[in-house]
Amino acid sequence: RKWVYQYEEGRADMKGLLGGKGANLAQMWNIGLPVPPGFIITTEACKAYWSDPEGLMDSIWPQVRDAVSKLEERTGKAFGGAENPLLVSVRSGAPVSMPGMMDTILNLGLNEATVDALAAASGDQRFAWDSYRRFIQMFSDVVLGVDIGEFEFLLSRVKGGQGCSYDHELTHQSLRKLVESYLRLLDSKGIKFPTDPWEQLRLAVEAVFKSWNTPRAVTYRSIHQIPDDLGTAVCVVSMVYGNLGDDCGTGVCFTRDPSTGERRLYGEFLVNAQGEDVVAGIRTPRPISELKSTMPEVYEELVKLTELLERHYRDMQDIEFTVERGRLYLLQTRNGKRTAKAAVRVAVEMVREGLITPEEAVRRVTPDQVEQLLHPQLDPTLKFDVLAKGLPASPGAAVGKVVFDADEAERMGKGGEDVILVRPETTPDDIHGLFAARGILTSHGGMTSHAAVVARGLGKPCVSGCEALDIDLARGVMRVGQREIRKYEVITIDGSRGLVALGALPLVQPSFSDDFRELLDYADGLSRLEVWANGDTPEDAQRARSFGARGIGLCRTEHMFMQADRLPVMQEMVASVTKEERIEALSKLKVMQKEDFVGIFRAMEGLPVTVRLLDPPLHEFLPKVPEMRERLEALEAEGKGDGPEARKIRVLIQRAESLKEANPMLGFRGCRLGIIYPEIYEMQVEAIFEATVELMSQGVQVYPDIMMPLVGTKEEMRRLREMVDSKAKEFEARLGGEIPYMVGTMIEVPRAALVAGELAEDAEFFSFGTNDLTQTTFGYSRDDAEGKFLAEYVRIHVLPDNPFHVLDRSGVGRLMELAVREGRQTRPDIQIGICGEHGGNPKSIAFCHKLGLKYVSCSPFRVPVARLAAAHAAL
Ligand code: ADP
Ligand code: MG
Ligand code: MG
Repeated sequence: RKWVYQYEEGRADMKGLLGGKGANLAQMWNIGLPVPPGFIITTEACKAYWSDPEGLMDSIWPQVRDAVSKLEERTGKAFGGAENPLLVSVRSGAPVSMPGMMDTILNLGLNEATVDALAAASGDQRFAWDSYRRFIQMFSDVVLGVDIGEFEFLLSRVKGGQGCSYDHELTHQSLRKLVESYLRLLDSKGIKFPTDPWEQLRLAVEAVFKSWNTPRAVTYRSIHQIPDDLGTAVCVVSMVYGNLGDDCGTGVCFTRDPSTGERRLYGEFLVNAQGEDVVAGIRTPRPISELKSTMPEVYEELVKLTELLERHYRDMQDIEFTVERGRLYLLQTRNGKRTAKAAVRVAVEMVREGLITPEEAVRRVTPDQVEQLLHPQLDPTLKFDVLAKGLPASPGAAVGKVVFDADEAERMGKGGEDVILVRPETTPDDIHGLFAARGILTSHGGMTSHAAVVARGLGKPCVSGCEALDIDLARGVMRVGQREIRKYEVITIDGSRGLVALGALPLVQPSFSDDFRELLDYADGLSRLEVWANGDTPEDAQRARSFGARGIGLCRTEHMFMQADRLPVMQEMVASVTKEERIEALSKLKVMQKEDFVGIFRAMEGLPVTVRLLDPPLHEFLPKVPEMRERLEALEAEGKGDGPEARKIRVLIQRAESLKEANPMLGFRGCRLGIIYPEIYEMQVEAIFEATVELMSQGVQVYPDIMMPLVGTKEEMRRLREMVDSKAKEFEARLGGEIPYMVGTMIEVPRAALVAGELAEDAEFFSFGTNDLTQTTFGYSRDDAEGKFLAEYVRIHVLPDNPFHVLDRSGVGRLMELAVREGRQTRPDIQIGICGEHGGNPKSIAFCHKLGLKYVSCSPFRVPVARLAAAHAAL
């Protein structure tokens, strides 16, 4: 079986077998870019390793030996050689990028003998010993499981002894002493450091295979929904050296700014350093633009090669490079992680540059990212005291309590508290804390530090490299100058500008960029589903329209009655005993309701507005009985027990008691109200038509769709339809023209779905009210279930998702399918949409697309997410 691949045998599209890193190294090699020679052990080998470690290692080993011989030929160096020794890096690379999650070892092949040979070959003792101590450190950490902190301690002691603060200032004598102390440390633990390069290689390869299953890698995969059975490939790459002096260095760069998407080379580098130094935040790296003056030729070449890579991959690239004595090498390229904002800008600009099609642009932005764009920001004009400044590592703003520990952040976050995780720097072991926090603040590390990269991926605000912070983990405080900030104090961070402030600053919703609008226009061009919005006020309607909604799918009239100036009139209506009293109150309400409709219809000019008639049980409009009783007692105590207010309260209390139901959700509500008290729905229909007639006579196009809630029988639908039609006739006569209205029903109880064919005889449209339909299909109260058992049901996998968030396809969805099919049999052109909460959920939107609905309707803020999700469903 073939376990080992040469670069020549690989291609960018072989990520499944060679891992992302390996496939891209092969691709770069094959298009002639300067990549150090190497070879790749497949992910298949990793998978086979789990079931039979020894057997697998034995079976791949001859192929590895062959590949190393080829490497020796290519580089003119000898593995374990006493002259010009070949050193390699052993690198993990999974099919899906999992930055920082698995292990890499550099400078493998060094021992007592080869270190001298390396010194002789390079003419640089310091370099050779620096490489050796790095190797021992990494190998011990990754393979031998020794805590890296113990080495760091020895390192800082030697630095102290020599009176210097940076690694690269250490002399070769100090480094040599350091290596000796490292080996002594291992000795004292009874660990013998392997000196045979072949043994080193074998152990390192095994360690990479094993690193697939470390807890942090497993957590990362579960958060990002990456399958556990992909396995990792292992890249063995001949070393190039960034630590050979001041004409050397290492860095990472992006072909576009990963925060904003702006087209410019963006990144960081360190002179005289190796690989991990840049990400580890040991020295603060320099911005890539400085390379222009320090190594102009290298910079020019880097610009040229990175542009070539971007055109080749037709996507923004994230590139690792190393400069060895003025020569540039590329060590990795991949599609760069980016913020939501950058994702949109890059996608749209690449369409304009002719690199990709609008369809590809839409494919590259996820509904999740759009959602992030709608996350809060600090008002850019807000004046506030800046506590400290750091790097703007991941945009957006967050407010939360300071917590210094990832475990605690996770605990509090899960408990529903807003926390900001504050650390000197983060490591992959902190991943659960980053996940649970609202935002991340670190005192060290650059824009490509672990915290920054992970935060951008998660769409959380992050300020990194905030050097003014002096964090005392042991005492649980941080200091900025004189000010001491304790654990649990509230701070605000602004990851867009790199600012930290005390207390909770107000956050605002961001506005849309032109790029974003353009992307959503591409999306609309690709989708079959329209996106409508739920909105109860003219403001909602305006917002919905500006977000691109093509109609109002649900206007809840009862919300209009809840407003302070209307509630008393509504209560008058509810308290009415006789029909005459009720009609009098209703006629006052009608005036107000008509004004609302005028505003909404005007805002939605030319687009359909679906108005749902009164739905909640009437008692919801009355104050709570105990409150009324209290007020009554107070009045009586004041001697006003016979006054007009007291009398009114007594009536209301009596009415509330008579309306009381054991199970109001299944009670006297929805169209049942309209059937028993026809005058209520008649008033509402009149208000709708009055508004329509008024606007139409001004030349405004209005399309009112009148929707009945909670219908369950054909007779309900027939009566209500008849009522609307006869009202319509009156108003059409008044207008002297036709009103383009429709009458339809919600499908929100199982019976409505089951008799949809009959309902469609009178209903011209259906709208799935999936909140109630889910509640009534499962028999779960949507107001109580979540906290009582539903969250736990999801946690222990009794249910895959909360059905109130993600539509239940096999149950509720089946009823929907049935209703669509039978509704269409009766009335082929019936208009069908959904207006439940699910209308804004990407997974549920995909299902609605499959059912062939005309539209999904969701809250105005979710309209952009839904527009993109509707396009994705169609791709
Ligand atoms: P990760 O997946 O965590 O980025 P990598 O395998 O890419 O790990 O390696 C870590 C660091 O070591 C990177 O900065 C990389 O550029 C550097 N590196 C890896 N292999 C070599 C090599 N052969 N020569 C020089 N530097 C290397
Ligand atoms: Mg790594
Ligand atoms: Mg890398």
